[in-house]
Amino acid sequence: CGIIGIISSEPVAPRLVDALKRLEYRGYDSAGVATVDGGRLARRRAEGKLINLEKVLAADPLPGTVGIGHTRWATHGVPNETNAHPHFVDGVAVVHNGIIENFAELKAALVADGSEFASQTDTEVVAHLLAKHRRAGLPARDAMRAMLGEVRGAYALAVIFEDDPETILAARNGPPLAVGEGTGEMFLGSDAIALSPFTDSVRYLEDGDWAVLSRGSATIFDAKGEEVARPLRRSVGKA
Ligand code: GLU
Repeated sequence: CGIIGIISSEPVAPRLVDALKRLEYRGYDSAGVATVDGGRLARRRAEGKLINLEKVLAADPLPGTVGIGHTRWATHGVPNETNAHPHFVDGVAVVHNGIIENFAELKAALVADGSEFASQTDTEVVAHLLAKHRRAGLPARDAMRAMLGEVRGAYALAVIFEDDPETILAARNGPPLAVGEGTGEMFLGSDAIALSPFTDSVRYLEDGDWAVLSRGSATIFDAKGEEVARPLRRSVGKA
């Protein structure tokens, strides 16, 4: 299982898939990518190997200069296209590695409030919570912090928003997640190896950290919302 995110001024889908290939060693049962293009979220997903996702993308390419990608190792919900990430709710797209331990109670409350779930995953509660906070008028970052205050468990998360093609949000509590800095483009990945073709300037989030990526900057915050400086790792050479 793995996560990738790219915010650039060039189409990102081919590089998202390349980076997912570099995370194949972690194992996975399905894969998917999503981008924002022209104010619309779009995604391609496929069960099985990345070659299946590549075939879908070849037949139906995905434009867009900001995007996220995922290889899934199913924990909640069978491995199929419907349960494959990214999960979409009301203009919010989420990829997640890990387990949301309190998803059942969160889901029950959301369903009682009228939310309709498309998948059997624990992950989908994250997308619903973010969408709920956005509908209530919270800006993306505040919606992210509110959601992080509600979920318990292990997660590496990457989020994009249909109404904000200038931002990728990320968070870590458990599974590794690194921010990579490029020139005029920023990256997110489960490890430095995934990002090695793009940048050798990588910082790992620590547990409780969350991050805001734009084309020109990547800022990491701790659980209290204070901006933090995590160490720069240059151990992996740019390929
Ligand atoms: N728990 C999530 C799911 O089953 C994420 C699994 C993963 O880490 O890939 O969809």
